[in-house]
Amino acid sequence: MERLARGRYLLVDVDGPLNPYYGFLSETEARVRDKRTRERIGRGFLRFSPEGKIVRFDQTLDPLCVDCLKEVVDATGAQLIANTAWWLEDLRNALAEFDPGLAKALVGRTGSKCENGVRRFLETNPSVCPEDFAIVDDEGFDDLNYEYRSRFIRAGGKTGLSPEHVLQIIVLFA
Ligand SMILES: [Mg+2]
Repeated sequence: MERLARGRYLLVDVDGPLNPYYGFLSETEARVRDKRTRERIGRGFLRFSPEGKIVRFDQTLDPLCVDCLKEVVDATGAQLIANTAWWLEDLRNALAEFDPGLAKALVGRTGSKCENGVRRFLETNPSVCPEDFAIVDDEGFDDLNYEYRSRFIRAGGKTGLSPEHVLQIIVLFA
């Protein structure tokens, strides 16, 4: 990742915050339910899309969560750094399907996950101050003494990123 200028950055995980676990299906359940769907989609974790289709867990984003992400970006001007196992181009393409501006706001990837991703981001970008970034993830960051715990917002479960989290992030950047 190139060095980034001083500015606001949201380090965002994808599986969980933007891709919540509602309707989650284990591979075995999906196979039993619909063998042809299973063959079409291939290997990987499967879940229901918001439209009720069975899709690969790592290939879809939830429109409500993406709306929330857009609200954050619009309200704070933060740029997005992917802190996830997702490839940058896959995520950019997925965001572009909802909003080209949101895809443009995605400026980098930490190359790791959770705390490791945050550490790599800060090491690579020394000009970014703690008050200029926020972290959204559904897991990790369990250490109460974690240095940047005050910058961390947990979003996942059945809703993913929600309007309540949007407010919390806006307050962090205020
Ligand atoms: Mg996650």
